[in-house]
Amino acid sequence: MITPSTIAVFEYEMKRYAAELRNIGLLIDREPERINDFLHLPAMKAINHMMIPPEYGGQPIITIGQEKYYGLSSLERVITIEQLSAGDAGVFLGGPGPSMSSIVMMDLGDEEQKERFYSHFMKGSAWAFFALSEPDKGSDATEISTRITRQSASDMKLNGHKFYIGNGSRASIGLAFAQTNRTPLGIQIAIVDPSIQGFKATPLDTMGLRGLRISHLEFEDFPLEEKDIVGRHLSPTKRGLWGALRTFHRMRPSVAALALGIAQASYDYVLEQRSIFTEREKTELERLEMRLHSLRSMIRHAAAEIDQNAQKGYLASLSKIRAASLAEEATELALAMMGPGSMVEHPLLNKWYRDARAFEFMEGTTSIQKINVFQAYANGKMQHA
Ligand SMILES: Cc1cc2nc3c(=O)[nH]c(=O)nc-3n(C[C@H](O)[C@H](O)[C@H](O)COP(=O)(O)OP(=O)(O)OC[C@H]3O[C@@H](n4cnc5c(N)ncnc54)[C@H](O)[C@@H]3O)c2cc1C
Repeated sequence: MITPSTIAVFEYEMKRYAAELRNIGLLIDREPERINDFLHLPAMKAINHMMIPPEYGGQPIITIGQEKYYGLSSLERVITIEQLSAGDAGVFLGGPGPSMSSIVMMDLGDEEQKERFYSHFMKGSAWAFFALSEPDKGSDATEISTRITRQSASDMKLNGHKFYIGNGSRASIGLAFAQTNRTPLGIQIAIVDPSIQGFKATPLDTMGLRGLRISHLEFEDFPLEEKDIVGRHLSPTKRGLWGALRTFHRMRPSVAALALGIAQASYDYVLEQRSIFTEREKTELERLEMRLHSLRSMIRHAAAEIDQNAQKGYLASLSKIRAASLAEEATELALAMMGPGSMVEHPLLNKWYRDARAFEFMEGTTSIQKINVFQAYANGKMQHA
């Protein structure tokens, strides 16, 4: 359990892992598949086991104070992820491990499904995908058209396309959202084994977060059975897309923490590279520093709130809006402060500038987050507003 007094120790440990990610960030940006050459790094091994509950073999990060962190709470995750993203967001996201899919499995999987899912990461480095978005259907998940057709409990077929799926072409297991009938309750989540015939993954060429290898997935008569439907033991309102909504709230502070990490890295970079500033520049840097502090506090608050009540997602939405925009602004400011030619002369700033553009889209765009915030307000969930 993370407490205010242990946060500094934990951050210190994470900074050591972050340095390993930073060392290989530019190489992985150029050649994403080279990530396989670095799976032996302690940071990569820790990422592979992050977010796996101990009862399924999860191994904790143990700090010098002997505290154990499994990355199971949102607060643990935002602290970890901010530091690792400041190291390199592309390598962190492209690293192995169950990632987002773990939160769905923890919440909705039955015992056999959890065993099957988590065992992948016990054998060595492995990746999982989380496939919700489709070509032209990102924000409105209720409109997805990937479909599960059912002849019997042992004869089901998955057909459709998924787009922008992180680590889609590397994963050895994944979760795919698909409709069984055209109602929100009809959207189910299937556990997919990419080695089975009927699955194809093509990496997409991207400007930013290239290490993540976002991919186009195609399912053609991909065979499924009832045992592959996540949360088959739960009622329709507690599984599928409906059940996963709580999961999305929990992921949102983590995306905000990713963006904060890049913003902080850009700020730190300028201070490392330059020592003399004009008065105007000093003011700009002071403003940025204050915004970084206040965003960090907001993200941790949002994460702690979600750990207490997974329905309370509006603060997470607000922090995600702010973080995505601050990452863009901070990377632009850093480039401006390093002078003309900085895009070429400072490859890290060039990379962070590109990487920062992804956060607007990941885990819901600003417009969608604003809708969430308005709904929380309209439903009386903003008690302190
Ligand atoms: C780096 C990266 C990694 C990703 N990883 C994954 C992944 O692992 N798995 C996965 O499933 N997806 C993933 N995505 C996809 C991501 O979730 C989608 O890009 C996102 O949901 C937006 O969907 P879209 O791109 O189709 O945009 P659209 O939904 O088409 O939105 C386009 C624009 O329209 C606006 N808009 C849409 N609907 C509304 C509305 N109702 N009201 C007001 N404005 C609206 C949006 O705000 C946006 O500005 C990833 C994306 C990126 C960039």
